[in-house]
Amino acid sequence: MSIFYRKSLKNFKAYIPGEQYNEVYVKLNTNENPYSVNIAFDKSVIDSLNKYPEPLSLQLRAKIAKKCGIKRQNVIAGAGSDEILRLIFQAFIDPGDKIAYSVPTYTLYKVLGKMFNAKVIEFKPARDLGINRDIIKSSVKIVFVCTPNSPTGIVTDLDVIKEILEARKERLVIVDEAYAEFCKITAIPLIKRYRNLIVLRTFSKSHSLAGLRLGFGFGDNELIDELLSVKDSYNLNRITQYIGSIAVDMDISENVEKIIRERERVKKSLEEMDLFVYNSGSNFLLLRIKNAKEVYQKLKEKKVL
Ligand code: PMP
Repeated sequence: MSIFYRKSLKNFKAYIPGEQYNEVYVKLNTNENPYSVNIAFDKSVIDSLNKYPEPLSLQLRAKIAKKCGIKRQNVIAGAGSDEILRLIFQAFIDPGDKIAYSVPTYTLYKVLGKMFNAKVIEFKPARDLGINRDIIKSSVKIVFVCTPNSPTGIVTDLDVIKEILEARKERLVIVDEAYAEFCKITAIPLIKRYRNLIVLRTFSKSHSLAGLRLGFGFGDNELIDELLSVKDSYNLNRITQYIGSIAVDMDISENVEKIIRERERVKKSLEEMDLFVYNSGSNFLLLRIKNAKEVYQKLKEKKVL
């Protein structure tokens, strides 16, 4: 550790992204979309790269807001929903503030919690691996609910989310909907009623654009203004704003349906092999397996991640 690294990061463990190779793998390890999309690219975007991008992504935010039946002021765009998650910590967490979530879930919440010196409270899962309902009453600054959850695929009922929102109005609730298009349940309309709610979405999964880095946060305009206040001036480059604006209008339904059908087909085949597979509302499956490490290695040898 250099003498310059923050002392509070002494035991910090960085987020480890899933393996990314350029070789030909059947790549299932980071839940991307297997189908790429065809977007016509106007060369004038390249020609304009000598100029900074529009700082507030106004056009893109207006388009996605219209699609969701809300106002532009209720949405922020970021370099993936990972950026919005970081902005949430930058805007709302003072050192020592508490955050909570039910495990297992997206491990970045913990990493960011540690990075920003929050107290991280992990609730054990319910028996069915779903959300621990004790979280409804916990008095923390921020509760994270990932639905469909990663890595389980389990969907949390909107009624439970409403209970969490109602229980403590002075507590912020982040609903991470990275995979929501694959279960068709969303908390976005609730932002009109609850001023303590932020919903996260991404174009990395359903829109086949993980390489573009584009995600959104939806919430009360005061919360969105506060997130905007801590973002980098030019957080979304011109190419992302340009392709993102086109992608908002893309019809993803056929692609999403294909993935749902495939998910259910694979689940059934695994069950026929006497494996226990959790019900999934996402584009991946979690299964119980005794020799997981060995299976992982053997699949990797066969070029399956
Ligand atoms: N939330 C969850 C639950 C995820 O699985 C991911 C993808 N790893 C993200 C957020 C971040 O997605 P992105 O930054 O690509 O928008």
